[in-house]
Amino acid sequence: MKRISILGATGSIGTSTLDLVEREPERFEVVALTANCDVDRLAAAAIRTHAKLAVVADAACLPELRAALAGTGTAVAGGAQAICDAARVDTDWTMSAIVGCAGLEPTMAAIEGGGVVVIANKEPLVSAGEVILAAAAAAGTTLLPADSEHNAIFQCFDRDRPEGVRRLILTASGGPFREWSTEAMRGVTREQAVAHPNWTMGAKISVDSATLMNKGLELIEAARLFPVRGEQIDIIVHPQSVIHSMVEYVDGSILAQLGPSDMRVPIAHTLAWPARMATPMAPLDFVAMARFDFEAPDPVRFPALALARSALEAGGARPAILNAANEIAVAAFLARRIGFLEIAAIVADTLASYDPPAPGNVEEVLVVDAEARRIAGARVRDCVA
Ligand code: NAD
Ligand code: MG
Repeated sequence: MKRISILGATGSIGTSTLDLVEREPERFEVVALTANCDVDRLAAAAIRTHAKLAVVADAACLPELRAALAGTGTAVAGGAQAICDAARVDTDWTMSAIVGCAGLEPTMAAIEGGGVVVIANKEPLVSAGEVILAAAAAAGTTLLPADSEHNAIFQCFDRDRPEGVRRLILTASGGPFREWSTEAMRGVTREQAVAHPNWTMGAKISVDSATLMNKGLELIEAARLFPVRGEQIDIIVHPQSVIHSMVEYVDGSILAQLGPSDMRVPIAHTLAWPARMATPMAPLDFVAMARFDFEAPDPVRFPALALARSALEAGGARPAILNAANEIAVAAFLARRIGFLEIAAIVADTLASYDPPAPGNVEEVLVVDAEARRIAGARVRDCVA
């Protein structure tokens, strides 16, 4: 039996992970499930999977969770520290699927706990990549990527001979506004932005996919996870989202991973790794698909890409500032306080007005993160005023 925990068990990735785990109860033992405060979904999942522990980050929700799980044999806890304590419990496999930099300390705790830690939660890797990788190396913890692009690259990348790799090609769907003019994007609503053409995901990553900031974050994520330089990573728009990414070798060979646009495919890869497990998706029907399209991303309509690339090139605190400002701006857009085009503008303004030295540990990353959030929050208020 593989002992597993899921951080962010009630979200889109958490739900997909639970779906796979519950299909093979004889193969997986659920140790801990965590959520922010969605008690009903967390308690239901804990009961179905006979989880040992259920934890809410928002301590105010603990009494409700305790009542929901009374007499079930699942222990309960609440608060940010309790999430980290749950993450640190020794398991064979932990899914890191909290959204945003709120997942940084829980991810670090999971890494300290050892085993395999699967990274869906990309924001901490963007903000604190060097710190996370050093912690994983020190603890002997294996990091596996769940993000579909990075999982595709992981499956194609020859880790024994990285010098043979010429280029990584990250594919992007282009999001719901791929063909929209900047003028048309000015009036985009929350509903339009979260309705992704190919994937069903949480609200924050859906907005990131619409601005293409998601691809910018993934560019930085790829540079953290694989031994290549930023300039070796290209981004190409592939609207069908069937080729999840590619690795090009110096001899001109290109290896790609293809599959249905369902996160259960990459999650299953990490869950069974290095073996394989079945998923319920229908096999790809190439004849029905008939064609694959490709186009270059438009840097003018989607300025987030260039912001992310320059943050990666400059390194230091820049990726953490980019991410923190984006989290604030996306939250303000989701709260209908700012317009769609203001998201990238606020990120650019925050980067332009704050340039601290490179953080060297988690505490220093969190200081940069907090100050970038403060600056971006002030920009949001300027937009609203
Ligand atoms: P989601 O919003 O659907 O779920 C987020 C989860 O985190 C929920 O369980 C929520 O309760 C929990 N959470 C939120 N705030 C928290 C806090 N402060 N402390 C503790 N827990 C908290 O998000 P999602 O779409 O599942 O995405 C999760 C992560 O995975 C993100 O970093 C995202 O970029 C990444 N990711 C998602 C997808 C996808 O298809 N959804 C694909 C690739 C990568
Ligand atoms: Mg992705």
